[in-house]
Amino acid sequence: MQDALREACALLQQGEIVALPTETVYGLAADAFNPTAVAKVFAAKDRPAFDPLIVHIASRGDLKTVAVVPDDIAETVTKLISTFWPGPLTLILPRHPDVPDLVTSGLPTVAVRQSAHPVFRAINKALGHPLAAPSANRFGSISPTSAAAVIKELGGRIPLVIDAGACREGLESTIIAIEPREGKKPLFRLHRAGPITKEQLQHFGKVETVREPVGQSPRAPGQLASHYAPRTPLFLLESPADFQPEPGKRYGLLSYTGADDGPYVALHDWECLEALSPGSGKLAEAAIRLFFVMRRLDEAGLDAIIAEPVSETGLGVAIMDRLRRAAVANKT
Ligand code: AMP
Ligand code: MG
Repeated sequence: MQDALREACALLQQGEIVALPTETVYGLAADAFNPTAVAKVFAAKDRPAFDPLIVHIASRGDLKTVAVVPDDIAETVTKLISTFWPGPLTLILPRHPDVPDLVTSGLPTVAVRQSAHPVFRAINKALGHPLAAPSANRFGSISPTSAAAVIKELGGRIPLVIDAGACREGLESTIIAIEPREGKKPLFRLHRAGPITKEQLQHFGKVETVREPVGQSPRAPGQLASHYAPRTPLFLLESPADFQPEPGKRYGLLSYTGADDGPYVALHDWECLEALSPGSGKLAEAAIRLFFVMRRLDEAGLDAIIAEPVSETGLGVAIMDRLRRAAVANKT
């Protein structure tokens, strides 16, 4: 492994891009201060330049190299990062002038976090520069939670993938912007639901979900209506009664627990059935497995994937967010 880490670091130093594990999903990393390297990330992903990247720092002390924290939110930022970093919380903050325009898509703000993954952290530290690293998939498709998934998405387009097994969280980081409020706890604008839940954030401020207008959200394209989508059409069925199968078509079910007596499982003689949290129904397990299961169903040669909703509490909010964005009904 040490050799692989050294190789990753050498490639990054030369302005190359490398797929690395993070605790959320696999990321496609470039030296954030090297615009030529960052441009390669956009090219490999077919990502439009209006979609800004998250910058990952090796230590909290490096925050000042990429962002300028305003005095009126400094205390909140300190509390959030001492609670959630290293970890899956991304903060949108005013950018430092050294951050290239390409990283922020020309925005006055930068999205920043510190990854908790030991391999990612080791490479980030050894490089001595922050890493710009979006998910290591083609733009709009399912995020990769394993090295095999990265190779399916980007094989032949990138020089190296570091395999450190499956990702611990399985969903992309929670993204918030912070607004100070006179005499009150700050307001957190939730740009993307993720592993750090609304309930966890509420200890530190009031959480308000940002609803970007469909089809035009250059500030947070992770929030585009159609995103994280399999190639097979996926339908999120809010109620079992909505299922109207067409004769002769092959349907697969993306179930929560996969239990035989579940209302969705009993609906049809499914060609293929995958459970997010087999038997037990735990949201944390469902979050970890969501993209893996979506990919499995996508590879099963089905005419359509039917997804069952999960309860929208805690991690269920982020899971339902990804299912809605994967669903064909959302496509514009
Ligand atoms: P990815 O890592 O592929 O999930 O993409 C990173 C996501 O972070 C983008 O799609 C945006 O949603 C979000 N993002 C990055 N920078 C900013 C920013 N300055 N303001 C708002 N959202 C941002
Ligand atoms: Mg992404």
